[in-house]
Amino acid sequence: MIPTIDVDLEAIEHNYRAFSDAVGVAVMPIVKASGYGHGALPVARTVAAAGAKWIGVADASEGIALRAAGLDTRILTWLHSAGETWESVIAGQLDIAVSSMEQLAVVAAAAEDRRRGSHAATVDVHIKLDTGLGRNGAPIEEWRTLFAHARDLERGGRIHIAGMMSHISGTSADDDLAQVAQFDRAREIAAEVGLHPQLLHLAATGAALKYPQARYDLVRLGISLYGLAPDTDGTADALGLRPALRLRAPIRRLAGRWAVGVGQGDGLPPLRGELPPLIDDSGEQWRIDEVTPVHLFVSPLGEAPDVEDAAFAPDASVPSPRQLTVIARPGEGGATADDWAAATQTINYEVTTRLTGRIAREYTPALPSDDARRVAWPPIEDPGRAVTAPQRQAVIDLELLARRLQRLARRAATVGANRRDLAYAVDVSSDAYGHGLAEVLPFIRDTGLPIVVRTRNDLEALRLRGVDGVLAPDAPTSTRAVYGLDPADPLPSTLSLRSELIGIKRVQAGQHVSYGYQWEAKEPTTLGLLPIGYADALPRAAFGHARVTIGGWQVPVVGRIAMDQVVLDLGDFECWPGMRVQVWGNEGNDVKLSEWASWTGWAPESLCANLGERVERIYTGRKTSGFRL
Ligand SMILES: *Cc1c(COP(=O)(O)O)cnc(C)c1O
Repeated sequence: MIPTIDVDLEAIEHNYRAFSDAVGVAVMPIVKASGYGHGALPVARTVAAAGAKWIGVADASEGIALRAAGLDTRILTWLHSAGETWESVIAGQLDIAVSSMEQLAVVAAAAEDRRRGSHAATVDVHIKLDTGLGRNGAPIEEWRTLFAHARDLERGGRIHIAGMMSHISGTSADDDLAQVAQFDRAREIAAEVGLHPQLLHLAATGAALKYPQARYDLVRLGISLYGLAPDTDGTADALGLRPALRLRAPIRRLAGRWAVGVGQGDGLPPLRGELPPLIDDSGEQWRIDEVTPVHLFVSPLGEAPDVEDAAFAPDASVPSPRQLTVIARPGEGGATADDWAAATQTINYEVTTRLTGRIAREYTPALPSDDARRVAWPPIEDPGRAVTAPQRQAVIDLELLARRLQRLARRAATVGANRRDLAYAVDVSSDAYGHGLAEVLPFIRDTGLPIVVRTRNDLEALRLRGVDGVLAPDAPTSTRAVYGLDPADPLPSTLSLRSELIGIKRVQAGQHVSYGYQWEAKEPTTLGLLPIGYADALPRAAFGHARVTIGGWQVPVVGRIAMDQVVLDLGDFECWPGMRVQVWGNEGNDVKLSEWASWTGWAPESLCANLGERVERIYTGRKTSGFRL
């Protein structure tokens, strides 16, 4: 038994149909960020089979992956790198939302290039507008020129204006309806310049349910596709939504405690309040004592199973443990995603979306077996050159890691440490805390240092590579010092995180930013769009504290942290799209990983271990060790 996420695809289909019936217009299911943790492809296939004509994702790379797997619906994408190369996006026949004149011009030019080739195609473009949210989307002052430009390009046959879209803040009925009015105004301006977008779409789940006038031709269905409500106000109750996800994991006796092998690094946020008792498959209740980076430590409220301590037992003799439902579906008892959200002071979106791809997913009904196959893509571009997603990079300094490993090995040799001495061991749990087990293992093996892991699952990952490790649930923090993850020995972290600025806009005093309009510009300023959110790395709990570094200056993250993006207040610094943004790092004026930890309550090792699947690993320094696996 291993930690497993069960996804009920029949529930997904039910939610799609119930929502479609309720809104009475076409629905675009949104499967960005691995389908909010449920798996993008199985969800997309399910809704396509149920009749969905559209699928929405944030990055083009997410859309291309779906296309490469054979999905043949329209696919809309709206978050692009400043250096996006468009060939494979166009070859994949994705619908592209543009937020600026520049993006429109670049997409049109890329479309033109293709038309000269043998694959002549018209590119379907959606114009994305900022109607108040202050995130991406063109600001109102630019609408008229942008529309006129789009009209000319459409008449020239380069592009087809398939849609016009915006996104609602969910602040209050007044604010939301003001956005609807702005969107109507945009439609009028478009008509005045002779631009007639085929489809208008404004509302996501929340606004679509609340305001019939916000539905237009199409609504974008994210959270309630997965059976969860966007708000706690009960608006979604009439739909009879069925939450699709459940997380279960075995309870083991480990080194004298009851442990479940999922923790913060797997996406469970630190507790800030009461969670209902969890229930095991014998119907017994358990209380969570502690959420650590790799475990939940729990205590039985009822009868405890009579099992041997698994920490020191050889593999074959580990007794079959009980299975604990960590995230339950409603009606099963235990703690639901909504209960987790309440107890961790976040929203249900973050709870499911952060669940790491390292946890096994099981689908009902089961997936056809070809789903494991991956199709090579893109067919035209050199994949080494193709940029189909904003930069979100975990940069891992192998040189620094190797130096620290060698130093530790010298110390171990000096004292004559043996192969199981934890004081000189290196912990590689949770994919080596996000560093990538496959990349760092050879370096560790070079040194001959003992290798330790904290969960049985991690031990399995080692065994799959033919490597022997010690299972020590309470491995001392010193076993993580080589990564700079030992609070007692706070060295610079070997993993830093960077991204890029993908949009800039000048705004006036009074401009609000992001969901709930929690931030307002006090004076004219420049806002920057950073394409990294809680699906990727940044806990929502960093709201109000977070800063990042750009051009050597620290700037605040303003407004709520969203799933895919955040907004920066750049003040009067001169900035441009494509500029590098250091989220955390160790150079000059970089914000430290430990600061992100203190703002959010997430342990530094959890922040590294819980990086999302859209974050790319980049290795610097020595590329190879002497050791080959
Ligand atoms: C994520 C997202 C959605 C879906 O929002 P829900 O609240 O989950 O329905 C819709 N539109 C855009 C632009 C998004 O980024």
